[in-house]
Amino acid sequence: MSVKLNNVECCGCGACENICPKHAITMAEDKETFRYPSINKDLCVECGLCEKTCPLNYDDYIKPDGVKALVGINKSADVNFKSSSGGAFSSIYESYLQDGYIIYGVKFDENLQPVHDAAGTAEECEKFRKSKYVQSLDNGCYKKAAADLKAGKKVLFSGTSCQCAALNAFMKALRINTENLVTVAIVCHGVPSQRMFEEYVKEEERKQNAKIISYSFKNKAPHDNGIDTRSSYIIFDNGQTSIRTTRNDPFLRGYYLRLFYRPSCGLCHFARQERVSDITIADAWGINKQYPELKPVEGVSLILFNTAKGKEKLAEISEKMNLYEVSTDWALNSQALFSRPTEMNPNRQRFFELWEKTDFKKAVYRCTRPTFKKTVLFALRPIKKALKKIKK
Ligand SMILES: Cc1cc2nc3c(=O)[nH]c(=O)nc-3n(C[C@H](O)[C@H](O)[C@H](O)COP(=O)(O)OP(=O)(O)OC[C@H]3O[C@@H](n4cnc5c(N)ncnc54)[C@H](O)[C@@H]3O)c2cc1C
Repeated sequence: MSVKLNNVECCGCGACENICPKHAITMAEDKETFRYPSINKDLCVECGLCEKTCPLNYDDYIKPDGVKALVGINKSADVNFKSSSGGAFSSIYESYLQDGYIIYGVKFDENLQPVHDAAGTAEECEKFRKSKYVQSLDNGCYKKAAADLKAGKKVLFSGTSCQCAALNAFMKALRINTENLVTVAIVCHGVPSQRMFEEYVKEEERKQNAKIISYSFKNKAPHDNGIDTRSSYIIFDNGQTSIRTTRNDPFLRGYYLRLFYRPSCGLCHFARQERVSDITIADAWGINKQYPELKPVEGVSLILFNTAKGKEKLAEISEKMNLYEVSTDWALNSQALFSRPTEMNPNRQRFFELWEKTDFKKAVYRCTRPTFKKTVLFALRPIKKALKKIKK
């Protein structure tokens, strides 16, 4: 038994590398720059642990029957502003920190690479705020969380569903007691590779002749007459700041047009109603139809409490959030990701072919040029707006 090498469905979580007792597995980049396990057959003793922890073999799904769904926003405007959705994650980690839990999440490291890390204070946890739209480096997090649990510590682990499934399977394979483990899955529609983001950052730094010291996706600072949830906020080391949108930023453009996700994201096993974690968090798109006072564009969280363990801190979380009841049925139909994986951009392959020959930005723009029809419609927008006003 061994992991299926370069399987198109491999999500690159790195759990197999973490679990291998012989260090026979290393993660290596493929041509498209995504990381896959590579096995040194001379070291492999065919113990099968890699297969046991692989999320592709996961089958411990939680049925949606007992799921409690709530939507809401953090009572702190500051926390909200610094979070991607409605600041649910902050209210969750604050509640568990009080009980001495170690919090695992994804931060940008000093090289602007998203990495999983552990934190024990509120200040350290702030680095986990905001989605990083890049696959995180596991940084040995499965192994470290297992060691924490074995040492009798309490662990709250947050990550994408594939990462939470990998972690659960990891603990099961090593027969580690998970009484003190709580998992929080972040709904995710796809991840680009670390290398891609790195190349993009390098290109931007060259262009600006300055280093990027902070990059924040899902910027909530208003610009161009409002908030654009698909924008990012960049700070350079020369003091310059910049708000980027899908119109002027190749990474955001490619990301939101689903141009360069990992192949497995298009085949995601976890884009389904059954859950894999104690709690699931996402954006509450469309909630304004039920609660007009809530504005999804400013960030509203959807929180699914999937297990009895997940519901334990509901009262404490409620103290930190303004929460509203929604039916589980509404929640699990509020976005396609609860029933099917993301559809990849038809130009995905072309992008990777072009990126081999040219720089990142050119490759993105060549693959995402608007059609003639779209260009005309865009140009006609001010006229349409003016006509609407006249009619009123
Ligand atoms: C790659 C990606 C794609 C997403 N796509 C969707 C989507 O299609 N629909 C939707 O409803 N929600 C999506 N989300 C989730 C959403 O953007 C928010 O992250 C989530 O609702 C939590 O927001 P918050 O305000 O509660 O807290 P925040 O403070 O913003 O929480 C951030 C949380 O995300 C974790 N995190 C950040 N980056 C990563 C990463 N690269 N990998 C794993 N964990 C990470 C942090 O550890 C923390 O737990 C996505 C998130 C990511 C990272």
